[in-house]
Amino acid sequence: MESIYRKAARMILNAHHVTAFTGAGISVESGIPPFRGEGGLWSKYDPIFLEINYFHTHPAESWKLIKEIFYDFFGKASPNEAHRVLAWMEQQGLLKAVITQNIDNLHQEAGSQTVYEFHGNSQKLVCTVCHREYRVQEVNLEQLPPTCPFCGGLLKPDFVFFGEPIPEPANSSSFREAEIADVFLLIGTSGEIMPASMIPQIAKSHGAKIIEVNLTPSNYTHQITDIFLRGKATEVMRKLKEAILELRGNVPEGQHTGEPQ
Ligand SMILES: [Zn+2]
Repeated sequence: MESIYRKAARMILNAHHVTAFTGAGISVESGIPPFRGEGGLWSKYDPIFLEINYFHTHPAESWKLIKEIFYDFFGKASPNEAHRVLAWMEQQGLLKAVITQNIDNLHQEAGSQTVYEFHGNSQKLVCTVCHREYRVQEVNLEQLPPTCPFCGGLLKPDFVFFGEPIPEPANSSSFREAEIADVFLLIGTSGEIMPASMIPQIAKSHGAKIIEVNLTPSNYTHQITDIFLRGKATEVMRKLKEAILELRGNVPEGQHTGEPQ
């Protein structure tokens, strides 16, 4: 019987438009804890500091935690094998886009070109008054809250706070992907966060096949998933890459036998 990885690889190789959809689970192995669940950030921090109204009325208090979590701690994370396999798939012409709910910039750091950041990005700060943008490295975070060097306005991380809309064009691009993709590759997302969680459902209703990569079954598994690849994102994605290479008649990297094919 054909292995489940081979089946998934074949589905990807036969598709016209594969889109990946990633969540916190892909970055856990890069050392970034998820927000929800046991050991998640919300078990340690009160999420109120990420509410947009609280941020505007208590910028210094909000910024103290924002700096601690997103810049002192997350700032040191680097992409893992799962991010790199997605970048490789795009280079090989096997993947059209990554839609991510993560704000950690790790897909771009791994080399992915087309990334729709549904919840924004932590590596950019935006002025709440004049809307100028700054890379976080350009801004002094020793004095909180940080202010705009141009107008003195309050700077805000360019990710989505509670009470804020999903940014454009990431929002419409993500829903367009759901309409045109014939394979959706879900990685490390359990489908609990609205409205992002609707995107795979919409893809399915437009005829996409769903390949799911997760440690444990999710809201999607029994509802829309066609192939469930259970395990750590890095291990599953490495095996999936090997299966793609095998089907294409290539020997996976590091496994050259020296014998004629
Ligand atoms: Zn400004």
